[in-house]
Amino acid sequence: MKPTMGRITWKINKLPSMVGSYFKNKKDQLVLTYRSLFYNEYTSLNTFIDTMMEPMFWFVDHFARYLGPIMVTFVVIMITFVVSVFYTCLLPHVVYTSHTIVTITHLIVGHWLLINIVFHYAMGSFKSAGHPPPLVQNSVSICKKCISPKPPRTHHCSICKTCILKMDHHCPWLNNCIGFHNHRHFFLFCFYMWIGTMYVSYVGYDLFKQHFYGNKVLIFPDFLYPLNLAREAMVSSGITSKVVVEKVEKKVEKNNEDDVEHLGISYSDKTFHNLVIFEFLLCTGVSIALGLLTMWHFRLISRGETSIEQHINNKERKRLKKRGVIFKNPYNWGFIANWKQFLGLTKNRSFCRHVLLPSNHSLEGDGLLWKTTTYSFKTDQNGLQLL
Ligand SMILES: [Zn+2]
Ligand SMILES: [Zn+2]
Repeated sequence: MKPTMGRITWKINKLPSMVGSYFKNKKDQLVLTYRSLFYNEYTSLNTFIDTMMEPMFWFVDHFARYLGPIMVTFVVIMITFVVSVFYTCLLPHVVYTSHTIVTITHLIVGHWLLINIVFHYAMGSFKSAGHPPPLVQNSVSICKKCISPKPPRTHHCSICKTCILKMDHHCPWLNNCIGFHNHRHFFLFCFYMWIGTMYVSYVGYDLFKQHFYGNKVLIFPDFLYPLNLAREAMVSSGITSKVVVEKVEKKVEKNNEDDVEHLGISYSDKTFHNLVIFEFLLCTGVSIALGLLTMWHFRLISRGETSIEQHINNKERKRLKKRGVIFKNPYNWGFIANWKQFLGLTKNRSFCRHVLLPSNHSLEGDGLLWKTTTYSFKTDQNGLQLL
């Protein structure tokens, strides 16, 4: 048999398209592999977000318990600091510049806020939120982690590793779970802390203005070590001696702003100056953040929801709306009734004694059984039915 010779043809002109199709195939394979790995018929945006946030949940679950004591120490140090600066810098200013009646009013208001802040912080941190007993009559589900019955509104806390009655959230700032027995203390702590920081900012604003803006000639560029002791501030506050004022003025006349040390400003003057500025900025920043948090919780409590229920109810609201049904929160008894229940203002308890003053009263009920509202059927203008 006569051997045939093969013919090699170089198709250089086809090379780019061959390389292109090779990489396109590889890319398609990768996309297919990726999709087949993650495809789920029930996948939604929520599932995607939950999956993406899984590392964060893992971090919180494993490290929040160590973070808690650090954050509690931080809060205690900051409160002690703010109160110390209030006593040593702001109160003397009030005493020097105000009438005795105004000073007495400040003393009463300041201490009333401080007592409430400390009381509700301690109660929120140390009082247990409440756990369901091993046997529950009207359980709605079983906790897969505790293997025990779950009453309505109870949720499992993965940080405390236990079920919490009417769980709102796990608070690292209080190093405790917020639930049935201490939710009131958590909210009142946020509320009084918010009012308290605004109050300190208000009292310290006068001094802050003088020290932060002061006389522009006296402001040095270095913020942390400025010479911003305006003459008015020093004279009106009566804290800085007249000798220092004269030295500052002489120096300004010479138009030489070289060094704070040369002016003979004492260390306590500079510390006072920095503390006044820091106190105001800290309290203002905290009051803004706490104000938002307090208003958010105010809204939830007014609607008879916990933070967890708000997520669940929103999902349910959307799901039922698609079916033409309006979702109604069964624990929403109306604004006033919700607040009375939340603050425990039942059995002739008064707002003045049990909210404005520290009170350790317990709420009505046991956190296991919850009365639910009922709604009559009717159709609204959109054709949606109330359940
Ligand atoms: Zn559990
Ligand atoms: Zn917890």
